[in-house]
Amino acid sequence: MAIKMGLTFDDVLLVPKFSNITSRKDVDTSSYLTKNIKLHVPIVSANMDVVTESRMAISMARIGGIGFLHRFMSIEEETDRVFRVKRAETITVEKPFTLTPDKTLKDAKKLMQEHGVTGILITNNQNKLMGILTSRDIRFETDDSRIIKSIMTTDLITAPAKTSLDSAKNILNKNKIEKLPLVDSSNHLTGLITSRDILKRKEFPNASKDKKGRLMVGAAIGVKPGELERAKSLVNADVDLLVIDIAHGHSLSVIKMLRTLRKKFDIDIVAGNVATMDGVRDLTKAGADGIKVGIGGGSICTTRIVTGSGVPQLSAIMACSKAAAGKVPINADGGIRNSGDITKALASGASTVMLGSLLAGTDESPGIHITKDGKKYKMTRGMASISARTSVSKDTNDIQEYVAEGIDGLVHYRGSVNDIIQQLVGGLRSGMSYCGASSIINLQKNAEFVRISHAGLTESKSHDIEKM
Ligand code: IMP
Repeated sequence: MAIKMGLTFDDVLLVPKFSNITSRKDVDTSSYLTKNIKLHVPIVSANMDVVTESRMAISMARIGGIGFLHRFMSIEEETDRVFRVKRAETITVEKPFTLTPDKTLKDAKKLMQEHGVTGILITNNQNKLMGILTSRDIRFETDDSRIIKSIMTTDLITAPAKTSLDSAKNILNKNKIEKLPLVDSSNHLTGLITSRDILKRKEFPNASKDKKGRLMVGAAIGVKPGELERAKSLVNADVDLLVIDIAHGHSLSVIKMLRTLRKKFDIDIVAGNVATMDGVRDLTKAGADGIKVGIGGGSICTTRIVTGSGVPQLSAIMACSKAAAGKVPINADGGIRNSGDITKALASGASTVMLGSLLAGTDESPGIHITKDGKKYKMTRGMASISARTSVSKDTNDIQEYVAEGIDGLVHYRGSVNDIIQQLVGGLRSGMSYCGASSIINLQKNAEFVRISHAGLTESKSHDIEKM
């Protein structure tokens, strides 16, 4: 039996090439996530419960990447996370939050807190607009039992249902208001335009948006019975793509699920994880629009140790992208620790990368900070770890027999995801410039790897200095 060589990021470096790029700004990092979805920033936050829920997904989409919601929650919860992302920003909020005037201040506060909204439109049972309740109306209110009717603002500026964004901007500006309810000729509420949404468009010009101007989001599903219901619920909530994600994606169950989803829904589907050419070919044949590559490379992953199976990530990406032959985009998932790894993953054929633990320490990931020895950390864990299993699965009777393929641990607290992604993309831009590449496609064309020795790796890292 011939044994192939498997290499990963630290085994190689990209050979610098002639470059006519004068500024990192001239480098275009946009790339395809699926056959139909292109991102300005080729980075996806992992569908792990310590990484991506709605807050992370919102930030990732604003920056120009995307978040994949994890599936280790109920169908209702995951669907709710999609709604939250979709509500975070839009041109027109089609279904604004409303309450009837007979509800109490307590009801309003609850709705505001739960959904992070600063104003609620008040409508009667026929959906006719009666007033608005904003944080300004309730700022000094102490009696939560007060009826909304007695505190809401009724002197409203509204606009017709089909008001353009430019006209809405003018009305908001002229009247110094934050929210512009849209109504039909009988005063039925049809939508809402907010100054916040308009400002966000300016602040994040590269945001990943759907046709309605809402932030994009992906959501993971599994292959067990009941997961079709999950897919249906997510599609109904307008999720932008589904991710069939199981540890060993080159399997009959994934192929069957792919075929079924393909027939039932008109939506992009990413499938994985695989690490071989055959895996890519079979998932492509079954209808995948994007393929997630990576078995055993994750920072919290023990698959290779527990099962003896896997492929070092750089070789896996190279083989998989060769099989994909530019027809289906490859997402490199797992093992990325810095911007250099991102450049190497993309240069070796991936169109996008997925980050797990690198983002688990940010403000936007679920979970709280932990302080240990005076340093701040957040928790990370593999989705196949004992800890994830016990907290996610309702049935813990089988925990004794469960064979974990992941661990849990701590990652350094790293502040806002914006700052991290900015650093990573900055490094990627520089990396592309070293390769003389102004686009990801050029990076892949120009890429020449040199294999390095252990001494080469030592030389690559800072050395022979005292740490401050
Ligand atoms: P990281 O970016 O190196 O932290 O890797 C993240 C990736 O590890 C995820 O996107 C998954 O593909 C993979 N992963 C997550 N949980 C587990 C696990 O428990 N065992 C093996 N792999 C995992």
